Amino acid sequence: MKRVIIIGGGIGGAATALALSRVGIEPVVYERAKELREVGAGIALWANATHILQKLDLLETAMQVGCLTTNYQFNSHRGRELVNIPVDRFELPVIGIHRAELHQLLWRNVPGEKFILGETFDRFEFQGDGVLAEFASGLRVEGEALIGADGLRSRVRSAILGDEPPIYRNFKTWRGLTARIPAAYRPGYIQEYLGGGKGFGLMMLGKGKMYWYAAATASEAQPDAARGRKKELEAMYGDWFPAIPELIAATDEANILTTDLYDRPPKQPWSQKNVTLLGDAAHPMLPTMGQGACTALEDAYVVAQCLRSVLIAQASPTQLDPSLAFQQYESLRFPRTKAIVLASRRSGKMGELSHPLAVGLRHTLMKVMGSAISNSFQSLHAYRA
Ligand SMILES: Cc1cc2nc3c(=O)[nH]c(=O)nc-3n(C[C@H](O)[C@H](O)[C@H](O)COP(=O)(O)OP(=O)(O)OC[C@H]3O[C@@H](n4cnc5c(N)ncnc54)[C@H](O)[C@@H]3O)c2cc1C
Repeated sequence: MKRVIIIGGGIGGAATALALSRVGIEPVVYERAKELREVGAGIALWANATHILQKLDLLETAMQVGCLTTNYQFNSHRGRELVNIPVDRFELPVIGIHRAELHQLLWRNVPGEKFILGETFDRFEFQGDGVLAEFASGLRVEGEALIGADGLRSRVRSAILGDEPPIYRNFKTWRGLTARIPAAYRPGYIQEYLGGGKGFGLMMLGKGKMYWYAAATASEAQPDAARGRKKELEAMYGDWFPAIPELIAATDEANILTTDLYDRPPKQPWSQKNVTLLGDAAHPMLPTMGQGACTALEDAYVVAQCLRSVLIAQASPTQLDPSLAFQQYESLRFPRTKAIVLASRRSGKMGELSHPLAVGLRHTLMKVMGSAISNSFQSLHAYRA
């Protein structure tokens, strides 16, 4: 068994730990949080991601704890349909799932002692054929390779690329969970409503939970309105499609999260010798295509397969040369993730339009280009890592 250090135990790090252990490579995950947890929100796992769950033997369980999704529908803010994309035309399902359920599915299938919690990674250095990682606690650990899955503000990334902070992309988001299912909700649908500089989406997760998300243009790090998140949202969406104010009213204020949206321009290298990046650390993107976690799953599977093929190809069964595998991984993953980062940003730009004429034109174009929009989603989801 070979030991690979993973920094970060989010969806990307947990998926990598599982994918590595499935190919006989020992992962050890170091996570700064004191417990493994994900935020209370949902995720759509498109067919490109459920393919990875199938490869990891998790698809059936994911289908039990999630909810099958059949259509992705875009509407005007008052509910006029603009585009309706069937997403159930693949050999694999699309699943709406609570992030915590997905996260648990991944880490529960790896022995618990492989997750070291409460350790904040500080720096690494190359040591002989291996790599030494140092943590804020003074802990020092050696491994044959290190994978930075430490998210948007990755320290591993800054050691490799030394780049600028992530870029704020002019959107604040709100995410909520409730058991209320509006009468107007169409089962199996992800329904999005688009207005001037604002949007709102809703979808079913498993276990009878309804997940909704809202985004609006705002300057960076805006504090909550003094009257509270819920009241602010009620004012913003009060005259939208009636299911929207109904959902906001039915959600506990404590179950509403806010997040500012950032990404980074696609940039290489991700890898330096036996150290590489994965998930948001490698390619942070706006959530407008819903692919951040899905591509982190793809990365996890591909990096494990690349390490496995190098292991098999090498003459000595006890030595692993990860640098070769990481080069191969990066060359497979960079072009796809670059395209999605850029497409997500273009989609974010369209969402920024606020002048009623521009919004009307956008909606006319969406109606006219319905089948082109549908095809571009289908080709994104058709990818099999
Ligand atoms: C509003 C919103 C909606 C989204 N919706 C979707 C969606 O529908 N579908 C989808 O596919 N994606 C979605 N995403 C994107 C998705 O959430 C991310 O792409 C995904 O969570 C990235 O996973 P990750 O493991 O790479 O990073 P993270 O989830 O950020 O995990 C990084 C982990 O590293 C740990 N860490 C950080 N620094 C250190 C350190 N120095 N030492 C040790 N540990 C460290 C952190 O504590 C964290 O646990 C959305 C994102 C947002 C903001």
